[in-house]
Amino acid sequence: MSFSPLIDDLIESLRCLPGVGRKSAQRMALHILERNREGGAVLAQSLTLALDKVGRCEQCRTHSELPVCRLCSQPERDADTLCIVETPADVLAIEQGAGFRGLYFVLMGHLSPMDGIGPNELGLEVLMSRLSDATISEVIIATNPTIEGDATAHFIHQLIRQQLDPQAINVTRIAHGVPIGGELEYVDSGTLAHAFAGRKSYT
Ligand code: ZN
Repeated sequence: MSFSPLIDDLIESLRCLPGVGRKSAQRMALHILERNREGGAVLAQSLTLALDKVGRCEQCRTHSELPVCRLCSQPERDADTLCIVETPADVLAIEQGAGFRGLYFVLMGHLSPMDGIGPNELGLEVLMSRLSDATISEVIIATNPTIEGDATAHFIHQLIRQQLDPQAINVTRIAHGVPIGGELEYVDSGTLAHAFAGRKSYT
């Protein structure tokens, strides 16, 4: 059954959200129209503004409405150490728990040839040019300990080994404590701190 073209469109649009099927989308649409039009207007405005203004940080690629994000702009961060993660949510998880004081590089995903995500999509060229700047002496690869995350870590390590002086940059991979197949975002902060402390150099 269908409501009206505009309501149907709204329901269909809400289905772009992860985990939202037709039934939930319908519930949300009717809720906004029946009970919370003000909230709906605020949502529409925030969404338009965010889509218009939020881009990528030039340095770490995370979401940012400034050319360089707030974290990359903090002078007290340790610019020697760069932590490579898959998502902005991973940055947040590490910031909350791991006691890490360096800078980040956010891949915005992992290598996934089936989905058309290759080195370009992950900004690896940007990463390599950043690493060749020579201020960075340690790279911590903190991609998820999943098959895809491990493959991505391996690829990045090879790239660094081929293109940069291996004496100048120590490449480590977080290891202990993060469950195999787990995602950093869902790991508790104690475990994450332990995983950082126990990071291993590639041999
Ligand atoms: Zn940044």
